[in-house]
Amino acid sequence: MSGFWAARAVVGGRVLEGVAFSADAAGRVDSWRAGVRAPAAALAFGLITPGFANAHSHAFHRRLRGRTHSLGGDFWRWREAMYAAAEDLEPDTYHELATGLFRELAGAGYTAVGEFHYLRHCRDGSPYPSNAMELALAEAARDAGIRLTLLDACYLTGGIGQELTGAQRRFGDGDAAGWLDRWGRLRDALAAPADTFGLVRLGAAAHSVRAVPPAGLARIAAELPAGVPIHTHLSETPQENRDCVRAYGLTPTQVMAEAGLLGPRLAAVHATHLTPDDIVALGASGATVVACPTTEADLGDGIGPARALADAGARLAIGSDQQVVIDPFRELASLEGHQRLALRRRGVFSPPELWRAGQADGYRCLGFDPPLELGGPCDFIELDPASPRTAGSQPDQIIFAAGPADVLRTVVGGRPVGRTP
Ligand SMILES: [Zn+2]
Repeated sequence: MSGFWAARAVVGGRVLEGVAFSADAAGRVDSWRAGVRAPAAALAFGLITPGFANAHSHAFHRRLRGRTHSLGGDFWRWREAMYAAAEDLEPDTYHELATGLFRELAGAGYTAVGEFHYLRHCRDGSPYPSNAMELALAEAARDAGIRLTLLDACYLTGGIGQELTGAQRRFGDGDAAGWLDRWGRLRDALAAPADTFGLVRLGAAAHSVRAVPPAGLARIAAELPAGVPIHTHLSETPQENRDCVRAYGLTPTQVMAEAGLLGPRLAAVHATHLTPDDIVALGASGATVVACPTTEADLGDGIGPARALADAGARLAIGSDQQVVIDPFRELASLEGHQRLALRRRGVFSPPELWRAGQADGYRCLGFDPPLELGGPCDFIELDPASPRTAGSQPDQIIFAAGPADVLRTVVGGRPVGRTP
């Protein structure tokens, strides 16, 4: 058992003084008392808060940082550069890239990551032996000490009705049955060395309505084991919506609903361009919407109806997506800031709502219990409340002031994690 004490903790947006807690051998919080002095043997901290969940990451997009800003265009122009970045990665270079990224995440205050993964096959589309790319990600998470939900994504078509071409051939599994079959084998491979991959769990994704036809989505909804989180890109661009309505007579949200995928285990990434009926349907289903504000701004995607989605019943989470910025504070402040710009008022989300999106609800959509709660993962970070950025801030509003440089220590599963060298 590991014992900890913090002079101050912000949990669920509430500020607690003098918190003593401990973690069991599995890395879960097994005791919790507030309003106490530091026990003699406890590892002491100043200001702590649960670790943040990065609910939407593509590790290989890290290669694009600082390299696409002279291209102009929009999402679709950027997508060509993204495919080029996927061209030559092999298991060893993928492991190296992902380890560096996951270390950066942990150093910035993310203690869990949902890696939306489809770069899986050799360049000619043939499979690597022994799930080499997936195991490279799992090993990278272990090496970085971060909690990982590997969201293995079904990716079958290059657009609605289009063959996979070029780098896309690395993504495919033929059909939904082929993906489900490989997903089951991957689950067995990841479960086998439980001691090695104790931080890793397998989730699922259907890339988008662009990449999985309705019949495939329905098959995945029916055959994926209950309780497995499933993520999807949803209505990121108006063109995706137009193509979908033209092909199926339905919006992407309606396609997901018809397939049986709307529900509490669904996490819809972006959900930027929705109809009023889409908002009601997503909210009523209890789905999570993963906002990626720095990516959506970088790509010029637009501003989604995050407040309306939350009012309709959706949970919110954040993701770093294309890794243009690794900064959970900036994602949360931008989530609020974009809504202020769109709605022309302040305080669209309360600080507790933002903390919940970054921490408890992000963890939930990755299949984990909320961090730093009794029975949940003992995942937390220590923040510097007196840096040039944070001095004078109220602890419950420090989201709006802090940055990655203010993360002093990161603890995952009760174990301190090293910072980026
Ligand atoms: Zn994405």
